[in-house]
Amino acid sequence: MSVFDDLIGQDRVVGLLRGAVEAASDVLAGGPGSGMTHAWLFTGPPGTGNSTAARAFAAALLCEYGGCGHCDSCHQVHIGSHPDLEIVQPQGLSYGVKQTRDLILRAAGTATTGRWRVVLFEDADRATEQAANALLKAIEEPPPRTVWLLCAPSPDDMMITIRSRCRVVTLRVPSADAVAETLVLRDGVAPETALFAARAAQGHIERARRLALDDDVRLRREAVLSLPRSLAGVADCIVAAERLVKTAEAEAASATATLDEAEAASLRQVYGEGSSGKGLGRGLVRGGAGAMKELEDRQKSRATRIKRDSLDSALLDLVAFYRDVLAVQFGAPVELATGDRRGDLEALAATSTPEETLCRIDAIVLCRERLGRNVNPQMAVEAMTLSLRSPRQATLP
Ligand SMILES: [Zn+2]
Repeated sequence: MSVFDDLIGQDRVVGLLRGAVEAASDVLAGGPGSGMTHAWLFTGPPGTGNSTAARAFAAALLCEYGGCGHCDSCHQVHIGSHPDLEIVQPQGLSYGVKQTRDLILRAAGTATTGRWRVVLFEDADRATEQAANALLKAIEEPPPRTVWLLCAPSPDDMMITIRSRCRVVTLRVPSADAVAETLVLRDGVAPETALFAARAAQGHIERARRLALDDDVRLRREAVLSLPRSLAGVADCIVAAERLVKTAEAEAASATATLDEAEAASLRQVYGEGSSGKGLGRGLVRGGAGAMKELEDRQKSRATRIKRDSLDSALLDLVAFYRDVLAVQFGAPVELATGDRRGDLEALAATSTPEETLCRIDAIVLCRERLGRNVNPQMAVEAMTLSLRSPRQATLP
């Protein structure tokens, strides 16, 4: 067992990180430790697990056995309570400068275990410009033995001045086979279901897991993918838009509830009644109530993000559907993400032109951009469904 077991289809990255962990031990032993550096940028499209990789690396740096996965230190990293690990997520949709400065101050402390202090910035691309400048300063003048781990979808999402000071770790989108294999081995999913879920999730591991294990998630995907053939009239477009937004909200609510419950349960376990506090670590002296409040705040801002992300993931399912229509229109021999809708794909491929399919994909991409700029979801999605219904008209200049 090792903390790197959760990195699926990322052998090259695991090799690189293991090398860095060895170099880091060398530094602690007074050696030169070439291969270790104090700032890392983990990149990879959403769902490839860039923050999972960063967490695993953090665990390995903090563990005296190089990331065994079962010691107290590894366990504390797992539940997010290690005294030398700061994990930060944006409050709301972005990082403000105050949040970033507070963090930099906390990061400057000395490692309680005499190893490293690790700061893990999830969604670092969501830092405001001021916050990014504060972060840059911290990375330029790092306190000794502080390691910064930033996560972002791609290096281009970070300011070049930050990027150039980090070693970039690039995660690949894992193959459908690798994701399916994991679902079979770890979650006991039947091979056929696992492969369907892995293809449908297009390399997004957590989404594949939920598709494989949760009937409701599968049904919601069905609802999303039935949208293209429900757009006969203008009124249908409005109804379909409303349904899509509501479906995404339901998905977000269920994902949020699952995460919230699991976290609250492990926190209660840590602070359990009559607990001796064994395995708590010195960082958790603030008391159960404070920690629970902090957890609730974090969960609230995460709920906002999940809501936005789940609508985005519904739109990505639609993009996949139209991309598959295009593949059928061109007879391209590719693996279809929505191969389970072959009837719909072929019907639409036969009754529309590749040009129209491209216009439809553009309409969805435009909708995603609008949502990214906080346009009202119902309005943005309505504009999209109308364009999906009459693709040519919508793209006239
Ligand atoms: Zn360990």
